[in-house]
Amino acid sequence: MTTRLLLQLLLAASDLTGYPVPEVMPHVAIVAPEVMPCACKGAYEGGTLWVSGDLDLAKPFARSVLLHELVHHLQEQAAGAPRGQTMRVRFEREAVEAQNRYLALQGSGQRAAVAVRDE
Ligand SMILES: [Zn+2]
Repeated sequence: MTTRLLLQLLLAASDLTGYPVPEVMPHVAIVAPEVMPCACKGAYEGGTLWVSGDLDLAKPFARSVLLHELVHHLQEQAAGAPRGQTMRVRFEREAVEAQNRYLALQGSGQRAAVAVRDE
């Protein structure tokens, strides 16, 4: 993944959510699918953006997954890590809404669904 793409998606995430551009960039870890912290293609935890190495970033949906995780970075930079299930669900809905608006802007008919992991 290029720094340019990361910055483009970070700015798009800021535009789509209204969160400010953060002072701090996330640490990006591109890892093999079996090393991901969940059965997922992207994840965000404590300042680290996990990206599955098999994600084809030429595809709009793959980029939208990164944008979704970058929204979580913006949320945590602005409001801290989610405290409690209500805040977790609100953050997740907000990330999915931004992701789906990004997909629409990219001309993609694909949409993401809200899925909140139990902690
Ligand atoms: Zn999420």
